[in-house]
Amino acid sequence: MNVAIIGTGYVGLVSGAGFAEFGHRVVCVDKDESKIMCVHNGDLPIYEPGLEEIVKRNRQAGRLQFTTSLEEAIPGSQVVFIAVGTPESRRGDGYADLTYVYEAAREIASFLGNYTVIVVKSTVPVGTARQVARIVREVNPGAEFDVASNPEFLREGDAVFDFLNPDRVVIGVESEKARRILLDLYRPLQKKEIPILVTGVETAELIKYASNAFLATKISFINEIANLCEEVGADVQDVARGMGLDQRIGLKFLQPGPGYGGSCFPKDTKALLRIAQESGVACRIVEAVVEVNAAQRARMVRKIRQALGGSEAGKVVAVLGLTFKPDTDDMREAPSLTIIPALVERGALVRAHDPQGMKEARRLLPSEVLFCDDPYEACSEADAVVLMTEWNEYKNIDLSRLKRLVRKPVFVDLRNVFSPGDMEKAGFDYFSVGRKPVY
Ligand code: NAD
Repeated sequence: MNVAIIGTGYVGLVSGAGFAEFGHRVVCVDKDESKIMCVHNGDLPIYEPGLEEIVKRNRQAGRLQFTTSLEEAIPGSQVVFIAVGTPESRRGDGYADLTYVYEAAREIASFLGNYTVIVVKSTVPVGTARQVARIVREVNPGAEFDVASNPEFLREGDAVFDFLNPDRVVIGVESEKARRILLDLYRPLQKKEIPILVTGVETAELIKYASNAFLATKISFINEIANLCEEVGADVQDVARGMGLDQRIGLKFLQPGPGYGGSCFPKDTKALLRIAQESGVACRIVEAVVEVNAAQRARMVRKIRQALGGSEAGKVVAVLGLTFKPDTDDMREAPSLTIIPALVERGALVRAHDPQGMKEARRLLPSEVLFCDDPYEACSEADAVVLMTEWNEYKNIDLSRLKRLVRKPVFVDLRNVFSPGDMEKAGFDYFSVGRKPVY
């Protein structure tokens, strides 16, 4: 099958490479020339484990191409995916900004040839696919097409694996023809017995928001339980395990920390609240999830202050990890972007390190932050070391070397990577989330 993907970002590039891996002929399109140039030069515009190999393999096999030209990509394609960004609107009111989606729809419309299925893969509010259909009809009244919804559930850092081995595929369609074509497209997954759920378009659109809001709920829930643990002397790691072993609850997403971040949960929870508000329906749980997440970040700043003895002023704080999670270079809505500026504002001297995120972090963090080439350099003369993101590199850090480098052996572990006992043995005053501090 011939497939075009509009938007060569985290989702578009991984999906494009994934569909090529299924055996389809794929053209990935992006407006941003630098991204397409980057691929043509043998690089990738994003960091994602395993992606380079499948891009290379499928390009060599002639199944995967990259272009900035819709005219090249659209006319021969039976399926056209829209995988452009849907950030929170600039007004900051929680609405999803659909400018890129609608622009892509208008641009695609004028190049449509034979019957095409236009699939919205971007995460969009309920009703967006219908708007896309309206726009296409307006621009090209003679076009033969259907619009479908196929939300994406991949996780950055595991995106390639997730795309090739998803827990499920959701397809929202309105015609039998579109249904058949999309089922054909995903046939390699059907063979692996991965569930493919075919629904109406609105249902598919809502499944994505409801899933992300539920995952964010688990995180905010366990963060509140962690805070309670700190007060009552319980250990949240054991509480989470004790809860999660119940199969109705599950162990995943019960990891306490500095709150969720990334390009999806923050904007998708807020967008869901807007959809609910416009529909006159209360979504009080999701409202609380958003509030708890903001409060958790503020609580982490207070935790670091407490570890520093009550004030950040003039103290050197080493921050290990800047991205919102490990194995990605994505800095969007990372907790570090609120926690570090708060520390700097109160006079902390922040020395930071991240294996992949520093290029983007330099643009987003205050100019006072000093970026270091390796984690040990960041920790040199530190009054406290803060583990912000649980990269493997930090999990295996040499604690005795660290102890020799720092000014004060204070370690604030916002991801509960280390065990309090081990840190005590290593000679650190250890602070974590939802467990008793060790002095
Ligand atoms: P991204 O910002 O990484 O990529 C979007 C790309 O689209 C950019 O490269 C941009 O230049 C390009 N673009 C915008 N308008 C265009 C146009 N008219 N023609 C061609 N290219 C255009 O975004 P992303 O993280 O890949 O997210 C895309 C969508 O997928 C969003 O709706 C997001 O919510 C959703 N999603 C993201 C993830 C994730 O982990 N990143 C997971 C699931 C779903």
